[in-house]
Amino acid sequence: MTGLVVGMEPDSIVMGSISFEALTEEADDLLKRLFPICRSITGEGVRQSLAILQEVVDFEVHEISSGTVCYDWVVPDEWNVSEAYIQDSQGRTIADFRDNNLHLVSYSMPIDRVVSFQELSEHLHTLPDLPDAVPYRTSYYKRDWGFCLSYKQFERLDTKANYHVYINATLNPGGLTFGETAISGHSGKEFLLSTYSCHPSLANDNLSGMVLWTLLLRELKSKNLRHSYRAVIVPETIGAIAYLSQHEAAMKCSSGGFVITTVAGPGRFGYKQTFLGNHLIDRAVQRTFAELDRDYSLYPFDVKGSDETHYSAPYFRIPVGTICKDKYYEYPFYHTSLDNLQFINARHLVQTLELYLLTIEKLELNRTYRSLSPYSEPMLGQRGLYPSIGGHINQPAVDGGRHSKRDYALGPTQKVCGQDLDAMLWVLFYGDGKTSLLDVAEKIGFPIRQLYRAAERLCAEGLLEEVSQNPGER
Ligand code: ZN
Repeated sequence: MTGLVVGMEPDSIVMGSISFEALTEEADDLLKRLFPICRSITGEGVRQSLAILQEVVDFEVHEISSGTVCYDWVVPDEWNVSEAYIQDSQGRTIADFRDNNLHLVSYSMPIDRVVSFQELSEHLHTLPDLPDAVPYRTSYYKRDWGFCLSYKQFERLDTKANYHVYINATLNPGGLTFGETAISGHSGKEFLLSTYSCHPSLANDNLSGMVLWTLLLRELKSKNLRHSYRAVIVPETIGAIAYLSQHEAAMKCSSGGFVITTVAGPGRFGYKQTFLGNHLIDRAVQRTFAELDRDYSLYPFDVKGSDETHYSAPYFRIPVGTICKDKYYEYPFYHTSLDNLQFINARHLVQTLELYLLTIEKLELNRTYRSLSPYSEPMLGQRGLYPSIGGHINQPAVDGGRHSKRDYALGPTQKVCGQDLDAMLWVLFYGDGKTSLLDVAEKIGFPIRQLYRAAERLCAEGLLEEVSQNPGER
């Protein structure tokens, strides 16, 4: 794989500042540091996690106080845990939060009691179909307590015995912690990059998304971008809703975006479409997969999912897509202890990062041009853009290869690659002030980067000019 790319200027399209291997190592290190931390929709674990990500890229961290009303929701009290376990009557530990934070139902109330098996079992969660896995369960809005065990652990419990349940947790007014940053461009369009930070020790969902979001942000911040990007890292659902409620005017104007989640599994790449299905975001993602000739699963928009549901609610209607690798809901280890660091791989994470960067590159490069020589094809030869010896264009190669892969001599030293020449001809042909480079790419299958280079070359020759806005785009 070549260096990662994001283009903005004709001479800086290829950005290979960090190698794939170095990024993989960095992602791996972040995954290992962050995995053990107990995160939830509030609490110290979120603050610790965001502080680690801030070592990689600058973003602001804010708090929204418990009790704050956000549309139909209220920011809950802050939850923090220091200890939680179940012991049998001999003092043997059955499940301990310190071994795996998934053992404790998130937002469990404090308790210190001896209970019968019968009472305990009403607060236990297991997965009989995946008997080695500890499930992930939450009780954010109903005051309760509970533990999660593997089914094998559960089967070893004595149904006639009593058990000591101990949860040393606090649930007090505090804050909901989130991170955000803005990258300013000059086009007047703003895109959203959102991920969620509320899952405890689960790797693909969504530690992988948090790490990808961070590395993506750092890559974008190092560029001079045309569009603006608003990046947020929030607890899922309540965080996104709270953010919308506090940034209503700005979010109403968002041009589209991504919810970054489940990006590093061993299975297939996937794309969950925006609610529109054919928005610029959808088309850019699908061109990225097409250009790389990479297989992926296409998931139509569904109201069940992540924060895209809130961002795309009737008032906001932001078209939000998700590029993933082993999409949530689709892999058997989803929301279990088997979604761990053995399940995911930092290499996969960086591969998905590349897909996001290549897609954002398309958003950056997509523009519309008008031909300044619209009455016929301009005479490229007199501008040194066409071979001076005629007759061999489109002549089939002896070996049957495509003509356009040949280089054509333009003079003593200059050459134009056959495909570059074709790109110029196509961009001129579609230079009607209405057809964007993305439209052209979809029609003829050329990479947008190549079409953009061709267009800029023609602009420099006075044959083409950029039209200020892509018509019809939000
Ligand atoms: Zn989840």
